[in-house]
Amino acid sequence: MQLHLDQSPLSGHADTSLAHIGRDSQAFGGLVNVPVCRGSTILSHNLEQWEARKLPSNPMASYGRFGNPNTRAFEESVAQLEGGHAAIVFPSGLAACTTSLLALVRTGDHVLLSDSVYGPTRQFALSVLARMGVEVEFFDPCLGGNIRHQVRSNTRVVFLESPGSMTFEVQDTPAIAEVVHGVGGFVVMDNTWATPLYFQAFEHGVDISIQSATKYIVGHSDALLGVATANRRAWDLLRDGAHALGQTAGPDDLFLALRGLRTLSVRLRQHEKNALHLAHGLLGHPAVAQVLHPALPDNPGHALWKRDFKGSSGLFGLVLKPMEREQLSRFFLHLRLFGIGLSWGGFESLALPVGQPVRSVSTFSAEGPLLRIHAGLENAEDLLLDFTEALHAACCRSPA
Ligand SMILES: *Cc1c(COP(=O)(O)O)cnc(C)c1O
Repeated sequence: MQLHLDQSPLSGHADTSLAHIGRDSQAFGGLVNVPVCRGSTILSHNLEQWEARKLPSNPMASYGRFGNPNTRAFEESVAQLEGGHAAIVFPSGLAACTTSLLALVRTGDHVLLSDSVYGPTRQFALSVLARMGVEVEFFDPCLGGNIRHQVRSNTRVVFLESPGSMTFEVQDTPAIAEVVHGVGGFVVMDNTWATPLYFQAFEHGVDISIQSATKYIVGHSDALLGVATANRRAWDLLRDGAHALGQTAGPDDLFLALRGLRTLSVRLRQHEKNALHLAHGLLGHPAVAQVLHPALPDNPGHALWKRDFKGSSGLFGLVLKPMEREQLSRFFLHLRLFGIGLSWGGFESLALPVGQPVRSVSTFSAEGPLLRIHAGLENAEDLLLDFTEALHAACCRSPA
């Protein structure tokens, strides 16, 4: 089936694009959305069609693993939003991170990762990449153009995540990209926090931009999915690497991700507003030592965030003043609106105790508990009240 997917019709305001991209109602009897398309075998009705299907230039591929209408609609939508050349889906965000790295590196290459990169990405680099004879090092997320002291002639990939996991350092992506491109390397970025709406990775020198679509794109905590978008320079390597490793995603999850995309901009505005309300409300609270949110003016990454980002999302860090374990336990017991759980980006708020983050070349130390907060779509006042009441219960009430 040849799809004629809508491109963004007007100038490309995200609200408008999101309502129109990746649709072809004529191909599906007028239905607004691309329905769930199940299929592995794709039949050709003659030899010529079969041969044409196998051409790399053919947008509809020869086999379900290379895509179907759900895959195409989602990949083209994300590529357009990111402003890249093309995108490819993965069964999880982590698979998008690991496959992007594998697609680019050879034995003997040198790879640098931000010291506050997502933990499982760090683990993958230290185990699998190192085992393949790739030299893995980390860089201080705040070093900007000074990364030139760590970049070498064989530096193949510099992997950014901005702001970083758990501690939210903003990286100077253009300055880093300039150095990396100077030695012919690739800049890969985990762009999950900002989404394409709040950070345009390719305008800042990134070659591959990754989304854990599990988070804001799916947006409802009901599917796992990843997607990586490449510029022209990185696209063939990324696509060939993903195909070689057999990476693909199922149509139900893709359907949910496309559905999620339609409301991404309205949801993000509410996540942003709620997180800022919480962050400002908790600044200066007697039980709070530090709020790690790049949109706060006194955050060390604020100037870079303001220069490069179009908004902030719902995820930020919080360091509490030192407290007994029993007090922390009471805090979580009293939270009613925040769940304790992994992942984020869904409609529901989360608060997660994350322990001391693992760092190799930079330092982050907190005397009290470090929490990762995800502000969901609830009412902002309700969220702040719930949080401060739980803090009060932890600090001020005697044990029940
Ligand atoms: C969750 C997350 C991932 C991994 O995504 P999954 O879909 O859970 O595999 C990657 N990067 C960041 C920054 C994340 O928060």
